[in-house]
Amino acid sequence: MSETSPKLRAVLDGIPTYKPGKPAAAGGPVAYKLSSNENPYPPLPGVLEEVIAAAGSLNRYPDMACTGLMNELADRFGVPVSHLATGTGSVGIAQSLLQATSGPGDEVIYAWRSFEAYPIITRISGATAVEVPLTDGDVHDLDAMADAITERTRLIFVCNPNNPTGTAVRRAELERFLDRVPSDVLVVLDEAYREFVRSVPGEEDDVPDGIELYRSRPNVAVLRTFSKAYGLAGLRVGFAVAHEPVAAALRKTAVPFGVSQLAQDAAVASLRAEDELLGRVGSLVCARKRVYETLVKQGWTVPDTQANFVWLRLGERTADFAAACEKAGVVVRPFAGEGLRITIGEAEANDILLHTAEAFLKEL
Ligand SMILES: *Cc1c(COP(=O)(O)O)cnc(C)c1O
Repeated sequence: MSETSPKLRAVLDGIPTYKPGKPAAAGGPVAYKLSSNENPYPPLPGVLEEVIAAAGSLNRYPDMACTGLMNELADRFGVPVSHLATGTGSVGIAQSLLQATSGPGDEVIYAWRSFEAYPIITRISGATAVEVPLTDGDVHDLDAMADAITERTRLIFVCNPNNPTGTAVRRAELERFLDRVPSDVLVVLDEAYREFVRSVPGEEDDVPDGIELYRSRPNVAVLRTFSKAYGLAGLRVGFAVAHEPVAAALRKTAVPFGVSQLAQDAAVASLRAEDELLGRVGSLVCARKRVYETLVKQGWTVPDTQANFVWLRLGERTADFAAACEKAGVVVRPFAGEGLRITIGEAEANDILLHTAEAFLKEL
């Protein structure tokens, strides 16, 4: 009998494992988790009721076409059902988009640092990752990204606002970029934090809504999720808006029955309770303003954030600050040697963070 192990694809070698945010240790000193950009509010009672009701049919497969959710989304966003696809979180959909467009020999462009799932899912596809550094201000360098396009480019991720820096690209630069991208290259606008954006529509430097941009651009796909603003991270449901060929490819490549009935029903209930949920988002945006302004007053350099987190570029002192936070009772998300992403959470959690930040600066 041979002792060799099953042959695995060579592209898997060296792929970094997705690093989830550290949990708040039960019984330990850490009380608050600010490491995964989760919504600190528990599910609305009405949403929870839908989930509990759906759990009564767990012996059945979910509706594979997600009919109820697709119809609700079509109404809410004013798009045809044929332009929609759902998936196991927007990460699941991003992976389907790669599967539908890119393989060995192809190139996928994204900014770096950006969402840590991009390098993982790109390498799994077999395509070559082309990482374009952020500007000095931690914003997407869209001109450099357009310059990086070759005849091998198949897909470009634009994370807007960007995880982990919170920065957003504005209308003029994004439209100029889209005008430069060849029409046979798919641009994926990952808008996981769209609901947290505060800019005035129509204002000169507003952060454009991808679902408006996609309408006149057949090579643009928009990713949205129920994980952040809608507080359903644990249920794994997101959706894409794209023109018919792309949306159809997504429905083809999706894992069959990937979105559970619990997730579908919770998502529909969340859209129907949107006023209340977006009110919570408004409170988090106020908390973000307080955290941002206090940090700046303390002397920190913080990039303008349009998401539910702030980014502190601490370089070599990243691990020290993460340790100080943990000791004080909040766990944050360090990127070794680079910086920390800190989610806006409960008021007490934000207070602990701010006190720790102030003390840390004084000791430098
Ligand atoms: C959190 C996040 C997502 C959403 O992931 P889900 O799979 O929908 O939970 C997508 N993109 C970015 C940039 C994110 O930060």
